This record gives sequence, structure tokens and C-alpha cells, in this order.
Amino acid sequence: MTQAALDADVLIIGAGPVGLVAALDLSARGVSTIVVEQREFLQPPNVKCNHVASRTMESFRRLGIAAEVRAAGLPADYPQDVAFRTSLTGIEFARIPIPASGERYTSRTGPDTAWQTPEPPHRINQTFLEPILARHAAQAPGVTLLNRTLFHSLAQDESSVSAVISDLDGSNERTVRARYLIGADGGRSMVRKQIGATLSGDPVLQHVQSTCIRSAELYERMSADEPRAWGYYTFNQRRLGHVYAIDGRETFLVHTYLSPEEAQTEGSVDRDAAIRAILGVGDDFEYEAVSKEDWIARRLLADRFRSGRVFIAGDASHLWVPFAGFGMNAGIADVLNLTWQLGAHLSGWADEGILDAYEAERRPITEQVSHFAMNHQQKLARPGMPAEIEDATEAGERARAEFGAAVHALNEPQFAAAGLNYGYVYDASPIISYDGAEAPGYTMGTYTPSTVPGCRAPHFVLADGTSFYDRLSDGYTLVARDGHGSPALVAEAERRGIPLVVVEPGDRLLPAEYTAPLTLVRQDQQVVWRGAALDAADAAELCELLRGARVRVVV
Ligand SMILES: Cc1cc2nc3c(=O)[nH]c(=O)nc-3n(C[C@H](O)[C@H](O)[C@H](O)COP(=O)(O)OP(=O)(O)OC[C@H]3O[C@@H](n4cnc5c(N)ncnc54)[C@H](O)[C@@H]3O)c2cc1C
Repeated sequence: MTQAALDADVLIIGAGPVGLVAALDLSARGVSTIVVEQREFLQPPNVKCNHVASRTMESFRRLGIAAEVRAAGLPADYPQDVAFRTSLTGIEFARIPIPASGERYTSRTGPDTAWQTPEPPHRINQTFLEPILARHAAQAPGVTLLNRTLFHSLAQDESSVSAVISDLDGSNERTVRARYLIGADGGRSMVRKQIGATLSGDPVLQHVQSTCIRSAELYERMSADEPRAWGYYTFNQRRLGHVYAIDGRETFLVHTYLSPEEAQTEGSVDRDAAIRAILGVGDDFEYEAVSKEDWIARRLLADRFRSGRVFIAGDASHLWVPFAGFGMNAGIADVLNLTWQLGAHLSGWADEGILDAYEAERRPITEQVSHFAMNHQQKLARPGMPAEIEDATEAGERARAEFGAAVHALNEPQFAAAGLNYGYVYDASPIISYDGAEAPGYTMGTYTPSTVPGCRAPHFVLADGTSFYDRLSDGYTLVARDGHGSPALVAEAERRGIPLVVVEPGDRLLPAEYTAPLTLVRQDQQVVWRGAALDAADAAELCELLRGARVRVVV
């Protein structure tokens, strides 16, 4: 597919999770890539993301890496629960059960275990996830990883985009050229700056001190009678904090939340004292600080995700406070939306106009998620914690029970975020054929399955036991109810080279939401059309819309 004068079809700047997933997905579509990354190969990232959403796991399943990701991180029998306590070693007053990875497909205990999906969420730290992605990318056909390489600048013309890069020390400056460029270069994205996109929103929501600590003794100090948890939210009068188990043995990530007053004065919070208050340990407790990061929780969104042949995705295009754990997951959803379109165009069946769908579909969704995350942060910042929270009295017990019920209700939606996973709707896409029906709304924790165009096609299992999502073609899949079909649509798609397969599951296996005789679903599971058999003219018109030929190209 690569033109002779080009170094690759697509240049990707940044080999964080978003850039690496872009390379893997484009490789699967036969599109060649060069990935420019300043870090060394397998150099660990900061200890940040801990939650891989169900929707991301579904994509990993399609890419053939879900089982490996599921097996990494915490031990297979380690509960992925969230516990609410007065401190890590203190009194527990609420718990959200989330199954350990070893029983993730079978357990029915927990708020997300009834989800209709072949791949439930997974809790794994980014330090375990990224090496898996990097190793697969290094072996993927058509992917060239350039590590210890800096991106400096870009320029584009009508048919290509070029980037000036150098070795990390500034030597060996050279230019690489491709047809398109994806900036997946994180929050400080130079690609974003170079295309003139600007971030706006809420630049400061909260100051946070994060410390990765190592202590083989911490679990011993915790009650042996209570099960372990992946996440711990701690509430006491001295400090509010969150702790995440990283390896289930000795490594933990501790987030210390600063009050607005503390944030005014640098150094006002004693890092070590705050960690001890969150853990509930005295000076006799020893730990090693493995890494430290002070960061500001924000809500920022780029005003544009594209300029001509250059696109931005992931943290390069949006940043928000990590409540609900959707920064990376939304970034991966962005880039897979884009790589599907790039693959369709570069393999020849889609018009260049299809690429306009990227910003039209993804930007509104990321704006919605940014608000969900910020609203949650603001509710949590004022927890209404009772003064007796730690008291070993009846009043203390009552207070913990009441407060526990409140924090459980508040937080369950962010740790079982069905809405963020499945509820979002592409309601103004140039490559979706709408039928006037209104899509159901969604919240962080709830969604209503629907086949209104723009919604996610509800999952079902076929008679042979396979997931419908495993049957999706890399273009479109037509779900036909008993006795229905559309030979004209199949023929018109074939004439244009649009990949389209027909699935006839049998009405008794179809969820009730599949009300139309035919439902057309994209590889990313989004419904793009529904209706009855089309004649040749209408089928041709629909195919032109689907392949982006009805989009006015704006560059
Ligand atoms: C405390 C915390 C907890 C989080 N928890 C979650 C969670 O549970 N779930 C979730 O989904 N998200 C979470 N996030 C967010 C998540 O970590 C980020 O959204 C994610 O890392 C973004 O991925 P990315 O690939 O877009 O950017 P990055 O991970 O920032 O990767 C960008 C890459 O580009 C490289 N790069 C940058 N500039 C250049 C250059 N000029 N030349 C060459 N290379 C360059 C960098 O070295 C880096 O490797 C959390 C974030 C924080 C801070």
C-alpha cells in the first residue's frame, strides 16, 4: 500500500497506549506505520492508569491480545474490589465487589457481572499493559518502532505529511514522510501545537500528590480477616486518599488529595505524613518511594482533532481527571475510530471524506466524558464525611454505616461505568444514516441498549456459542432477522469493494432491541443504518454515504 516515495502510510508520534494501539490496529489492516517515541523500547511509563474498560478489552480481543492482558497485572485470584475504609489498616465500612481476573468470565457477584459483553473490564496498571502493547507492536507486520527518537516539527502538502525527527540527543536529524500523521504524543503534544489546536475547559480542578511505594509489610499490617482489594478509598480527618494495589504483593500507588488552600502553597503538605495518614501507619512503618508525581486534575479539550492530513488522539486531544478511569480508554476509542477510517480509505473502498467522521464522532463524546469525570471529582471533593468516622463507639458505627452507603452509591457508577462503555451515541456523524428515532440517554453508570443508528449494537451470542462481536467484518455487518435480506445492498457494497458480511442469528437469539428487519453494524459495533430491504438506488445511496463519498471534504 505504501507509495514509493513515502516511508510509511501513517506516521504515529508517541508510543504510549494510544500510539501503540494505533500501530497494532493499522498493521491488522495492512497499513504500514512508523512510530516515533522518545522513550527506550519497554521503558516503563509513569504508574498511572489502572483500569482497562470493557470496550477496550473488546478491541484487544479483536487484536488477539485480550487473554495476555487479562493474565497480566494482579494475581489471577486477587479481588479487583474497591474498599472504603478509615485508612488502609483501619476500619472498612463499604465495598464494591469486582471479580478477580481468574473468575472474571464466570462470577456473577458485582455490579458489572451481568453486562452483555464477551470481555468485561480488567484492572491492570499501565506499567504492565504498555510492555504487552509494545512487544506486539514490535512484531506486527508493517510497524517500525523508532525509540529514543524525538519528533520536532511537521509540514504537509496535498498528498503527504513529513516530520522532522532526530535521535534523542539531537543528532541524526532527518525527515520521514507518510500520507497521514497521528499525534498520540500525550498531554504536552507538540503535534497539537503545530496544527494550531488549543485546549480549553477547566485548567485546575484539584492538586494531587501521587507516590508509588513498595513495602512487603503493608499487607501484613492489614486485617487478615478481610479480603484484599484493588482500590482503597480512605477517609479520616487527617487526609483523604486513594490507594491502588499494583502487583498484589508489595507495590501500591498512593494518591494524596490536596485541599484548595493547601494547593496555594507549595510544600504545604508533608508527603510522607500524608501517606502514613492514608495507610494508617506510624513512623515505625518502613516503605520505599519508588516514584513520585505531582499532577493537576484538569478538564481540557482541544478545539479541533484534525488539520488536513494530521490528527490528534488520546491525551494529545483531551485531558481530564481520571475518575471512572477513562483517559486512556477514551483515547484508545478515539484512535481506533480513526484507524478504522484510515484503513478503509487507504485500502481503497472509502473516500477521503470518511476521515471527517473522526472529529464529528469522537469530539462530542470526549466532551461528555470530561464532564462526567469532572462532576464526579467535584462530588468526591466534598464527601460530607462525619466527624465520628473513626470512633470506636455506637455513634461511630452508625456514622460509618450511613456514610458507607452514601460513598458506595456515589462511586459504584464510576467503577461499573456501563454508560461510559456502551452508552455513547454518535448523533451527528456524516457516515451514519439516521432514521429520526431518538437515541436513549446515558449516565456514567447506566445505559439503555438500542439499535437507533449511532448507538452500540447490543451484544448477543450466536447458536454456535460465538460472540456476535467476533463475527463483525472489518467493514460492515448486516444483521438480518428471519426471512429478511437485502440482496441489492450486498451487491452495491460488493461493487464498491466495501467489506460487508451478513449474519442471520435467528430471531430467538436476537435481543429485543433489534426491531428492524435489517440492522447494519460497523466494526466498532456502532449501528449505522436499520430498515427493510432496499432497492438498488437506495442501496447505492446508502453505500456512498457509508464510504464517506457524501461528505464535503474540509481540510
Ligand atoms: C493518576 C492517573 C491515573 C489514571 N488512571 C487511568 C485509568 O484508570 N484509566 C484510563 O483510561 N486512564 C487513566 N489515566 C489516564 C491515562 O494514563 C492517560 O490518558 C494515557 O496515558 C494517555 O495515553 P496517550 O498514549 O494518549 O499519552 P501518553 O501515555 O502520555 O503517551 C504519549 C507518548 O508520547 C511520547 N512523546 C511525547 N512527545 C514526544 C516527542 N516530541 N517525540 C517523541 N515522543 C514523544 C511520550 O514519551 C509518551 O510515551 C490516569 C492518569 C493519571 C495521571
